[in-house]
Amino acid sequence: MKTSWLTDKEIQGYIEGITSGDRRVLAKAITLVESILPAHQEAARKILDRILPYTGKAVRLGITGLPGAGKSTFIESFGKMLTAQGHRVAVLAVDPSSPKTGGSIMADKTRMEKLATDPNAFIRPSASGGTLGGVARKTRETMLVCEAAGFDWVMVETVGVGQSEVTVASMVDFFLVLMIAGAGDELQGIKKGVLELADAIAINKADGDNVQRAQAARQQYEIAFHLINPPTRIWTPPVITCSALTGSGLQKILDLILKHRQIMTESGELEKKRRNQNLEWFWSLVREGLELWFFQDSLVKKAVSRMLEEVEKGARSPTSAAEEILTHLKEIPS
Ligand code: GDP
Repeated sequence: MKTSWLTDKEIQGYIEGITSGDRRVLAKAITLVESILPAHQEAARKILDRILPYTGKAVRLGITGLPGAGKSTFIESFGKMLTAQGHRVAVLAVDPSSPKTGGSIMADKTRMEKLATDPNAFIRPSASGGTLGGVARKTRETMLVCEAAGFDWVMVETVGVGQSEVTVASMVDFFLVLMIAGAGDELQGIKKGVLELADAIAINKADGDNVQRAQAARQQYEIAFHLINPPTRIWTPPVITCSALTGSGLQKILDLILKHRQIMTESGELEKKRRNQNLEWFWSLVREGLELWFFQDSLVKKAVSRMLEEVEKGARSPTSAAEEILTHLKEIPS
């Protein structure tokens, strides 16, 4: 792939390729979005600005759950059901690699083989490396590129163990939490905060001799869930059972998502939600950019190490040290 600056004609080629649904161009555009090369980043920005009118039409569905809850199986079955109904489905993931293990929780499985070979589906693994903010930015932008390429469903998966659920919830219209019955503690290590984000909880693996247990878990979750997440005027998040393996309950989940969408659209809440998500995204990019720019400056770097030392020794108060660092803001050439 070309590493130098792209011409206007080349950018135009990307726009035409993406909007006509050319998968090769789509993949190349996503590579630009994920690249750290300044020339690629600039090209990606131009492309994103120009495809904006073609975005926003997809149903954006976020899916989380602990490892083993059945996320990949669910996404594959649900995705196949959608493509069978004539939809085009993009599957993305937010999986910031763990600084502790250096590895990813989601990457090394053979995942979604049937969906991967479906011509109406497009699966892109999580962008790798970098901070959660960085990975999330790439996923968000990839989502827009997929929408411009005509995908009318975008599913964004994340593992329910860290901060990434909040991030995914902030880029989707509907956030689904997958759980399984009888895995010990009723809320299974899923943090309370995650339940607050949920638009629905699905107890998966309700099949075979597990049906009864799943039903019982559903009732327990319902009580716990509504204590945490009181029903609102507009939407009461339901708790339902399903089986990603047999497909039972999946149509019900689809109906729920569509009902939610209808209610949110008619009340103007969907537009409001997306507008707020965009504003939040804008501010987080500005903050991230500011921080990067500030700490790259050599004077700032020197001052930071000096101030750290003085604060550690107790020779200076944190307030005055921070103030001193910030005075450098005025001196940095732009
Ligand atoms: P993930 O880690 O959340 O992506 O979970 P996977 O989709 O990889 O599923 C973990 C295991 O649970 C696999 O062995 C699946 O075959 C199995 N599994 C997933 N969904 C179901 C289900 O609905 N019923 C049953 N019985 N097993 C399931």
